[in-house]
Formats: sequence, structure tokens, C-alpha cells
Amino acid sequence: MDMLLWYGLYLEFGCGQYWYWPSGFSCSMVKGGQRRSWMECSNGIAFGKIRAGQVETKLKDLLDREIRDLRISVTDRCNSRCTYCMPRDKYEWIDHHEILSFEEIVRIAGIFIRLGVTKIRLTGGEPLLRHDLCRLVEQLTALGSLQDLCLTTNGSLLVDQIEGLAAAGLKRLNVSVDTLDPERYRQITRRDDLVRVLQGLRAAKQCGLSPVKINTVVQRGVNEEDILPLIEFSRDNGYAIRFIEYMDVGNANNWLSEKVVPKAEIFETIRKRFPIREKGRDGDNAPAVCYEYGDGNGHVGIIASVTEPFCRGCTRARLTADGKLVTCLFSDEGYDLKGLLRRNASDDEIRALVSSIWGRRTDKYSEERLQAMNSAEGYKAKHRRKIEMISLGG
Ligand code: SAM
Repeated sequence: MDMLLWYGLYLEFGCGQYWYWPSGFSCSMVKGGQRRSWMECSNGIAFGKIRAGQVETKLKDLLDREIRDLRISVTDRCNSRCTYCMPRDKYEWIDHHEILSFEEIVRIAGIFIRLGVTKIRLTGGEPLLRHDLCRLVEQLTALGSLQDLCLTTNGSLLVDQIEGLAAAGLKRLNVSVDTLDPERYRQITRRDDLVRVLQGLRAAKQCGLSPVKINTVVQRGVNEEDILPLIEFSRDNGYAIRFIEYMDVGNANNWLSEKVVPKAEIFETIRKRFPIREKGRDGDNAPAVCYEYGDGNGHVGIIASVTEPFCRGCTRARLTADGKLVTCLFSDEGYDLKGLLRRNASDDEIRALVSSIWGRRTDKYSEERLQAMNSAEGYKAKHRRKIEMISLGG
């Protein structure tokens, strides 16, 4: 006998059966005498549609934000030492045994997909340092239900790996390039890889990835004068480009608000040279505001986490290389999923934990930062402890 155990409101229409439950309720579906799905939302509100023994959730947090994107850090190791990201002091690397295996990552990804995630970004550390990354791309592609699978990389190892990644199903990627000036590149990354990175960009384009995007973090007194050369370079070569306001990720980069070049200033710099027209965000939850060049030759985006926070549209969850779920880029804590995995928890148990964490989510760090920056006391980045970007995955 099929039956539905529910605590909340259950409705049946011609087009399907729906359930709804407020804070603290749970729901089970029993089909053919066997419990098939068990979900819990210990806080917050969930709403779902039931079809043929499956519960499709629209899991929402306490600010009404769905879970749609998952950023997976595949390693905390990096071969760059970018001054705005990497701790200069001694950093305790995650022990190899603690790093999730591909099988564990794919299992967790499947659970998130069933909760509503449609987009996965692989990141790090430097994701291309993870041995055989293309095998992970292949396995995630094989899940079949993702609308988008992408990669963020510093590009230095791309030339050797791009063919394998493309063959495994990678369709697009973002490459971090903050300047085209070799000496400045060396100062920012403390590495000498610019030539290799530019070769990697070209190789990605030749392999048919689209879009190939450049990510540029803009810092006052460091690389503002690189904005226009980078735009010209991206337009000439058919790359998309996004400028990112310098953020206070982690605590080790000694962030100061004076080093942020605000979106309005980046916009003005571009507009004076290239007429641009605002197109809005790519989807309501995208971090970048997108602009189209007047001559139709491409787009440029600006990500303004500091001066124009977009917390209200943030549908991103993060999985650290050692299997912790983090619900905000500026968090100081993660929730251990690896422990559950390695204690042989069922998918339902892991899903229930993720649901309850997301259901309680109230993060809006960037909004709070802006409020503090505008207050009489001002904002002191070091007063809030945060996980370092290198562990978290950007
Ligand atoms: N190693 C890869 C790379 O360089 O793209 C992936 C990891 S990196 C942490 C991901 C992205 O975060 C990069 O585009 C990087 O520029 C950005 N990022 C790191 N620190 C940042 C900061 N303080 N402010 C803004 N963006 C930052």
C-alpha cells in the first residue's frame, strides 16, 4: 500500500500531490510498504511536490533562499600565493586522509542535486593540482541532472589538462588573471606563471569551452590600471571578463576597506573608454552584474560583494576539501558531512542533516559588513573570525 506520513499540510490536486511543513516538522513517504524518502526541516519552511514515490523539495532557508549552487573545493593546496587570498604565515594543510575521495564527492553531489542544486563549480585551492580531476568531471557529468558544471582555476596547469577536462564533459571555466603585466603578476601571485596561464586560456578556447571567463580581483594601488588592458585583451580574444571587488575573505590577507575599488569606480573606468549597457544579473542569483558593450562585442561583469551585497539572492552552498558544508563565504564554521559518510550514514540521513542546516540558514555577512562600514564605528575585518579562502574554496 502506498501512503504518505506527514506532519504539516498535505494537498492533492489533479496536477499532483503537494506537501508543506513549517518549522520542526518532518515527512515520510511510504511506497509499496517500504520507506522511500525521509526528509526533515528542523527550522524554516519547505514545500515540495510528490510524484511517483519521489519527493522533490524546494528547500528554503529562513530568508526564503533556495539551495541551487554547490561549490566544491577539491583540494586546499595551491601553486600560487596570491597576496589577497593565501595566508603568508605558516598554514596547516589538510591531511591527505581527510580529503574527500572522488566517490565521496560524487555521492554528496548527488544528495545536493536531489535537494535542488542544479549547478556545481569545482574550485580549491588550485583544483588542477588534484590528480586526475577529469575523472571527477566525468563522474559528475554522468549524474546527468546538472544544468551547469564549471571550474575556477588559476590556469597555470590548464594547457596539459584541458583536453581531458573537455572530453570528460567540462563546458566552461573561469581563469583568474589580475594583470597582463609580468612583473605585477609576479608580485600579486608570487609566481611566474603568466605565460602558461595565457597559453591555458587559448587552449581552453581551442578545445571549444564557452564561455572562457577571466576573473580579475581589483585592488586599490595594485592593479586598477590593468582594467582597460584586460578588457581590450578579453574583447580581442573572445573571452568574457568579470571584475571582482577585493573582499575580506579569511583573516590572513589583512583586508582594508581602503583597498577596495568599488563597483561604481570600475564601471566608470570602463564606461569612459567603452560604452556599456547594463543587462542585469545572469539569473536572479548570479553574483555578477552584467554589461553589454555598445558595439555588441561581448560582455563584462562586475561582482560587488562589498559595496552592493547580493546576500538576499545567495543560493550557494560550499563543500570544503575535507567534507564540511559551509553556508557562507565569510563563515567561521562548517558542518562535518565527511564524518557521517565515513560512519556509513545513509543518503537519507545525510540529506536530512543538510536540509536542517540549510533550513536554519540566516547568513547575510556582506550586508552586515556594509552596514558596519557605514556606521560611526566603522568595520574592522579582523574582529570577525572567518575560514580562510584556501580551505573554503572560492
Ligand atoms: N586557485 C583557483 C583560482 O585562482 O582561480 C581557485 C580558487 S580561488 C580562491 C577562486 C577565486 O577567488 C579566484 O578568482 C580568486 O581571484 C578569488 N579570490 C580569492 N581571494 C579573493 C579576495 N580576497 N577578494 C576577491 N576575490 C578573491
